[in-house]
Amino acid sequence: MNAKPIQVTSPLLPPLEEFVPYLERIWESRILTNGGSMHQALEKALCAYLGVEHIALFANGTLALVTALQALRITGEVITTPYSFVATAHSLLWNGIKPVFVDVDPVTYNLDPAKVEAAITPQTTAILPVHCYGTPCDVDGIDRIAENYNLKVIYDAAHAFGVRDGRGSVLRHGDLSVLSFHATKVFNTFEGGAIICPDARTKQRIDHLKNFGFVNETTVVAPGINGKMNEVCAAFGLLQLKHIDHALARRAQIDGLYRRLLTGVPGLRSLRPPAGVTGNHAYFPLMVGEEYALQRDQLYQLLRDQKVLVRRYFYPLISEFPMYRGLPSAAAGNLPVASTAARQVLCLPIHPELADEDVMRICDLVTAPARVRAA
Ligand SMILES: *Cc1c(COP(=O)(O)O)cnc(C)c1O
Repeated sequence: MNAKPIQVTSPLLPPLEEFVPYLERIWESRILTNGGSMHQALEKALCAYLGVEHIALFANGTLALVTALQALRITGEVITTPYSFVATAHSLLWNGIKPVFVDVDPVTYNLDPAKVEAAITPQTTAILPVHCYGTPCDVDGIDRIAENYNLKVIYDAAHAFGVRDGRGSVLRHGDLSVLSFHATKVFNTFEGGAIICPDARTKQRIDHLKNFGFVNETTVVAPGINGKMNEVCAAFGLLQLKHIDHALARRAQIDGLYRRLLTGVPGLRSLRPPAGVTGNHAYFPLMVGEEYALQRDQLYQLLRDQKVLVRRYFYPLISEFPMYRGLPSAAAGNLPVASTAARQVLCLPIHPELADEDVMRICDLVTAPARVRAA
């Protein structure tokens, strides 16, 4: 069999001819960036789609994270998760803030509020949790601690586009939530990101910070960065929004097919969003336990040899990278659940273009070693 490689993800790319009229409008306007009409229209459309009041668009999610921390004047120590993409903690280092890693919950793989409290010191100013794989954090638990200790909460919601809990968008929680619209995410603008803001004043401050700190032609109020989303990316976001519901529905189908085909395989476990949550099926993480016929890395290699390009998100843990591993909180003994997750996880391909036959072939490959062992 000489199948073509199956990527773990593939960008949602609407037909090119649908994008051309947007480009024509940009060419006519001769406005390429700095909050042009596409940028304004996308902010409005995203607020409506996501069910939030205020949003500030960014050139990427990392600049949005860095700016969110600055907007709230976060300093000192911030409690965060080691089980995430490295940009989560990097955004702290870019602000001269010390990350304090706290272990995750074994069901959601999100920051465990029960363990947060013990990590708070007089220097702690905020919590930076991640809705990992789009699974909502224990927002009530985190809120309670933040209130008790007077801490800010910034959610890294890079995985959580469109995720809703029983009461609405998961993005409404905390002081700020940060999205990524990178090409690999559920909703993309090639590169892009955003901050969900609670009020117009906060959005205005963030809009200044993402434009060098300018408030008008001659006044600069902060050492801001250039974090603005350009008009082409914003236009692509507007087009993407027209296709997003269809893409999310297809992701849900693939997720369902995986679950159906992989149930009952000894040693394999998939994550399930908590009751009442509408997920976005951004990822399909599979936990490869000890009862499975192969070790996780053997299954990883077997699938890659068959051109199924699975990924180990999130291995290694952020706390294992050289710029973090010297921190006391980075010790593996402090992070047993995250350490186990990093050893077990394998993210299977999931994206709207993936065919049922691909999913079936992947599941065949995953279940075959278990069948051999059982025989
Ligand atoms: C993708 C991602 C980011 C960074 O977003 P970019 O848009 O790539 O800068 C941050 N945090 C998490 C959890 C991510 O997955």
